[in-house]
Amino acid sequence: MTGAARKSVLGEVREVTLAIELIELGARLQLLESETSLSRERLTKLYKEIKGESPPKGMLPFSTDWFMTWQPNIHSSLFYNIYLFMLREARCDSIQAMVKGYRLYLENVERDNDEAVLTLTRAWTLVRFFDSGLVTMAPCTRCGGKFVMHAHDPHHGYVCGLCAPPSRAGKTRKAAVTA
Ligand SMILES: [Zn+2]
Repeated sequence: MTGAARKSVLGEVREVTLAIELIELGARLQLLESETSLSRERLTKLYKEIKGESPPKGMLPFSTDWFMTWQPNIHSSLFYNIYLFMLREARCDSIQAMVKGYRLYLENVERDNDEAVLTLTRAWTLVRFFDSGLVTMAPCTRCGGKFVMHAHDPHHGYVCGLCAPPSRAGKTRKAAVTA
C-alpha cells in the first residue's frame, strides 16, 4: 500500500482510535482538537458515547507553578522521564509517547498504591511547556534523578522533593520514594 492510500484508508480509523484512547485516559476537548483533525462535533459525540456525559467546559491549566509543587513535581518528573524514553528509545511519535508514557505512569502509581495526581491533560500541558521552553529537567545533586524545573531558575545545587520532602509530606514520602 502506498503512503497516500494508507493515509486515506487508515487515517480516519487511526484518528478515531486515538481519540477514543485519549478520552478513556481522561483527555479534555481542547487536547482532542489539538491532537486529531476530527471536528469538535464528532469529538463531542465520541466523548458523550464513551463517558456518558458532555465534555467539561472551561480553560485548560496554563500555569507552570502547579508542576513545581511537591507531589505534582515528583509525579510530573516520573511521567516526563517515561515520555522521553518512549520518544527517544522506543521511537514513538509525540502523541504515542504521551499515551504510552501516561499508561506506564498510571501503572507505576498504582503499583505503589499512590494517587495519580497528574491527569492526562496536565501531562499534555507539561509536554507543551517543555516544547515552548518554559520548563526543563535538572538533575538532583543527591540522587541524580532528573526533575521538572522552571527553565530560568538556577539549577546549581538542586535537591529534589524525594531527597528533601517537606515535613507535611511525611506520610506519603515512603510511597513516593519507592516510585
Ligand atoms: Zn533527589
